[in-house]
Amino acid sequence: MARADLTFSTGATPRIVPHSGVAIREDIAFANAKGNEKRAIRKAADNTLRKLAEPLRKVLQRDEAVFCVCHARTPMNLLEQYTFRSAAYFVAGCVLVVTNKRLLQLRIDPKGEWTKSMREVPWTDVRQARTSGWLGGFLTLEYRSGKKERYWGINGNDKGRLKVLAPRLIEESRTEAPGAGEMYAACPECLGALQAHVYDCPQCGLIFKNEGEIYWRALIPSLSYMYTGHPVLAVLDGLGEAYGVFLMLAGAVGVAQGTQGAAVPLVAGAIIFGVDYLICLQHNLRFVGEFLPTDEHRANVGAGVRAAA
Ligand SMILES: [Zn+2]
Repeated sequence: MARADLTFSTGATPRIVPHSGVAIREDIAFANAKGNEKRAIRKAADNTLRKLAEPLRKVLQRDEAVFCVCHARTPMNLLEQYTFRSAAYFVAGCVLVVTNKRLLQLRIDPKGEWTKSMREVPWTDVRQARTSGWLGGFLTLEYRSGKKERYWGINGNDKGRLKVLAPRLIEESRTEAPGAGEMYAACPECLGALQAHVYDCPQCGLIFKNEGEIYWRALIPSLSYMYTGHPVLAVLDGLGEAYGVFLMLAGAVGVAQGTQGAAVPLVAGAIIFGVDYLICLQHNLRFVGEFLPTDEHRANVGAGVRAAA
């Protein structure tokens, strides 16, 4: 693991100062990519660190310091970008926390509050990190496993800092023993690794919202988006599905009465409802895949872990 007081090409003198109980490299976290400290950057970083103090205090180890926090959007495929449209920016918000040990991804809501969803990768499991883009910056990570992921919506200053920090941290960690090989989701309660599509924590038994609930809830307007905590999308989905149902009912009545052309709204309504259902599934399966915890624990599992915690 790289040292917390590692120096970079900017030449700034390392300065580790506690903020909200978290060790922060002030010379990087509050500075631009050239190492010059700026009041606006300090104010924004302070605000982000205050909101994320709880998970950071829990996750970070004694010899670990936060180098910087960068607002970004989680990786999204082309179909998701198309169906989320302008909402994409708001439903994929995250903060990338760069430390000397790892890259931590904390999902946030549009107000900047942590959604209790987190992923992480130790630098030793990152083979390459590349920044790109002009107006909206990208961070492309290639993991030891060969998998690639691209974060987007990164501002110019954060992109510049990631360009300086990431390759150096990867280099410093190159000789360490490999971990899981790529970024993985972690339990917000016990910090253990979670397995894709398994919606309870094998370590502490914490139960997460699950895919099975999405398949039936998506048939009822708004219900699946309410389940995953997206009220605005719930309203839009509700309007779309309700319109589809209305057309189907109107068409069905017309067909029953023998009205000419009544099959048209029946078919149109079925198509609208079907497309809306598929989009609803796509969006909400993505959301539950981020691991949204419930308040419940699996019976008899992890009781010892919780008692010890
Ligand atoms: Zn757990």
